[in-house]
Amino acid sequence: MNPFMFKNPTKLVFGVDQTNQLEHELTHVGKNVLLVYGGGSIKRNGLYDRVLEQLERAGKAVIELSGVEPNPRLTTVQKGIDLCKAQNIEFILAVGGGSVIDATKAIAAGAKYDGDVWDIITKKTTAEDALPFGTILTLAATGSEMNANSVITNWETNQKIGWSSSHVYPMFSILDPKNTVTVPKDQTIYGIVDMMSHVLESYFHPVSNTPLQDRMCEAVLQTVIETGPKLVNDLESLEYRETILYCGTMALNGVLSMGARGDWATHNIEHAVSAVYDIPHAGGLAILFPHWLTYSLDQKIDRHVQLATRVFGVDPSGKSEEAIAHEGIERLSAFWTELGAPNRLADYDIDDSQVERMAEIATEQGELGNFKLLKKQDVANILTAAL
Ligand code: NAP
Ligand code: FE
Repeated sequence: MNPFMFKNPTKLVFGVDQTNQLEHELTHVGKNVLLVYGGGSIKRNGLYDRVLEQLERAGKAVIELSGVEPNPRLTTVQKGIDLCKAQNIEFILAVGGGSVIDATKAIAAGAKYDGDVWDIITKKTTAEDALPFGTILTLAATGSEMNANSVITNWETNQKIGWSSSHVYPMFSILDPKNTVTVPKDQTIYGIVDMMSHVLESYFHPVSNTPLQDRMCEAVLQTVIETGPKLVNDLESLEYRETILYCGTMALNGVLSMGARGDWATHNIEHAVSAVYDIPHAGGLAILFPHWLTYSLDQKIDRHVQLATRVFGVDPSGKSEEAIAHEGIERLSAFWTELGAPNRLADYDIDDSQVERMAEIATEQGELGNFKLLKKQDVANILTAAL
């Protein structure tokens, strides 16, 4: 493995009814709080009232930013930054899924930056500070609750860009399975696909000697494969919600990729698709990942074989490495399709008319991938195969 340093400062507060810990977690933060949330799910399920009660008991002055959209937009981030600057905000509380948390990270960094926050997101400059923030996660999927990543869409330029800064780890994140019980079936499925994709991105790296990392990745995948279908058939099970919630966080809090940086090309390709068509992130991943796997079979095939045999239970006897790997990819694809995820771009009415443009957007900052390097034409080939 490669040499590495690891530091993840986010305090995780995990478990049923742990939402009640919010007041305590707010003890040492400033008085002026910006409460950030999405399109209203937290009002419909009662979480909003419980959060406001605790903010009040903690003596906070609350300003709200609502309406953060799935695939959060730069315009909304800018609104939040303006509010922080005008209202002297000292702390941000994000209550929602990955979109709300990602927007909050950009607001937190932008509030401490004099220029345009897009400069930070596009890496023209780096964040040197950020407002502190905490999160209450309502959807198991992205891992944003315990990492320093954020993905923001600029509809003026059709760019959906992921960025990262050590200043935007949440100070605390409250993960209460009860807050995820109202997540509808489609979003539950997307969450499962997203967390599995994060593990797969980590698993496919070019580094040798990563036996523990491999086993940890495989453990998360196996747990999700075991629990995901049960949850989709019993959305109100707190037990299954709890397991999947924990898996989502472990999939992308840095633990699985110590000493070996994963590939991440599929995420970048999906961001380009979402930047043109505004489809759900994990819907795009479910379609693209099997094609990326097939396209990367010419790299270290032993990793594909290991995944197929250890995670998808492919019997290797009498088969070539290629055959084993293909069977593994087919099993992954079938697992997602049976769960209810889409498997062709046509499912979102996407045809070949924008393939070139999406390939261009995906590679405008250079070649993609760490396990397999992809140029623009490779991306176009993968997109075409996924039509
Ligand atoms: P999301 O976009 O945050 O939420 C999707 C939908 O689920 C929203 O309509 C939301 O409604 C609803 N929802 C959330 N919690 C709910 C609940 N408890 N009950 C009912 N409905 C609920 O979904 P996400 O998958 O968590 O985030 C996707 C975004 O994260 C994408 O932009 C993706 O690119 C990004 N991403 C980030 C990372 C990272 O590491 N930072 C990693 C992967 C992906 P409301 O708006 O009404 O709340
Ligand atoms: Fe993702």
